[in-house]
Order: sequence, then C-alpha cells, then structure tokens
Amino acid sequence: MKIRVLGCGGSFGSPLAWGRNGNIDINNPHNFRTRSSVLISNNNQNILIDTSPDLRDQLYKAKCTKIDAVLFTHEHSDHIAGLPDMRAMSLINKSIIPAYLSADIHDSIINNYEYIFKGVKDYSPFMSANILEDNFLIDDTEIKTFKHNHGSIDVQTFRINNFAYSTDIKNFYENDIDKLKNLDLWIVGLLRYDSHPSHAGFDQILDYINYLKPKRTLFTHMTALLDHEDLLSKCPKNVEPAYDGLEISL
Ligand SMILES: [Zn+2]
Ligand SMILES: [Zn+2]
Repeated sequence: MKIRVLGCGGSFGSPLAWGRNGNIDINNPHNFRTRSSVLISNNNQNILIDTSPDLRDQLYKAKCTKIDAVLFTHEHSDHIAGLPDMRAMSLINKSIIPAYLSADIHDSIINNYEYIFKGVKDYSPFMSANILEDNFLIDDTEIKTFKHNHGSIDVQTFRINNFAYSTDIKNFYENDIDKLKNLDLWIVGLLRYDSHPSHAGFDQILDYINYLKPKRTLFTHMTALLDHEDLLSKCPKNVEPAYDGLEISL
C-alpha cells in the first residue's frame, strides 16, 4: 500500500496569502501547503480521502488519472470543494465514481452538488453516493471508520490495514482511540500549537501519540502558524510534520 499526502494545509492553506506568512519560513518548500487530502494506492485501486479545493493540481502532481472511490471525512468546504474536479477522472476512465459519506452529511452534499450525483439537463451524473458503514470493502481493501469530535460536528477517522487518517480532530469519543492501536502510520490533524474550539492542540495530540505509539506519525491540516523545521524540532522520534507530495510505502 502506498500513501501520498496530496495536501497538508489547514482550511486557508499555507501561507495565508501573498506576504501573509504567519510563522513559516517561505524559503522552505515544505511550508507551502495545499488543503488536506490523501491518496491511497492498494492493489491497483486508488482511494482518495476528501476532495480539497486544490484537488486538480494535487492529482496532476501525483500523476494520478484514476480514482476508484472517494471517502469523505466531513462536510467542511476545505474537504469537499474539489468535488467538481472528479469529472475529469470520470471522463478519462468512463466510470461513475463512488463516494462514501456519513448519513449526517449525505443529503446536504447531494443537494449542493446535484449535477454531480443526479445529473442536470444534458449533464449525466459522474459520481454515486454510498452511506458509510463501520466496516466495508472497496474491491478487496477493507475500510474501517468511526466518528471523532470536531467541535460542533463529527468527522470520520478512516483506518485501512495499519494506516489511519484522523484530520480535524478535537477529541475521540469514549474508547474509540483504542481502535487505532498497532498502527504503522497515523496521519493526524494539527492546526496549530494552541488548542482551538474545533481542533486539539499540540500537547493533546502528543498525549494521543504517546498512548497509541504508532510506528510513525505525520501531522496534516497545518496553518501558517506552524513552521516545518520549528515543529520538527519539537517532535519526538518517529513524529513529524507531513509535506505536500510526501509518499510512504507500507
Ligand atoms: Zn478542515
Ligand atoms: Zn473541518
């Protein structure tokens, strides 16, 4: 299985805008972050988690021309707004691409992107919508998912074999964190050092890492308040900030 971090920026990306660099060193290309998504390649299947507003460019740079399924974490725009870019993937492969999303967000996404899921006038639909189950198969890849808290809404954590992705996390519910034991790779959201009403801060995420002890942990969904080298210097062994285009083979 190969994991590619397509983007690891927060909802604004990083930097915020021209000359608005926050705390980042703009001479380090790792600090230029597009909005968060990952591509998982397993047994000739390409599974995308989230469709970021930067999706077209992300897939181009990944030389990716086929998506077999899309998993959605939640309904915030920085995770959804690249949906129209799936049209090219559908056209190239003459495929209707299945999306998997929670019952909470199903109706709003279908309604907001009706032309994609239902078709409008001369435009045929190019994606189908499936409600997430806790365990399901995409071809022979087993996906496990559960909800974590993100302030006023919930977000799906996804686990595929010994890889898991938990972006936009404030807290786990009850003992759900135990579903992330024995990970080879955990990609987890870290917005900034301080906690935020909808995002855990650095100390809390480190507590989770110390408890779970994944073989490797990468941070995603980072604002321009987090400089790559500065954050790396504060991280324990086997924990590091991701960067756009990073690929890991598991
Ligand atoms: Zn987000
Ligand atoms: Zn969010």
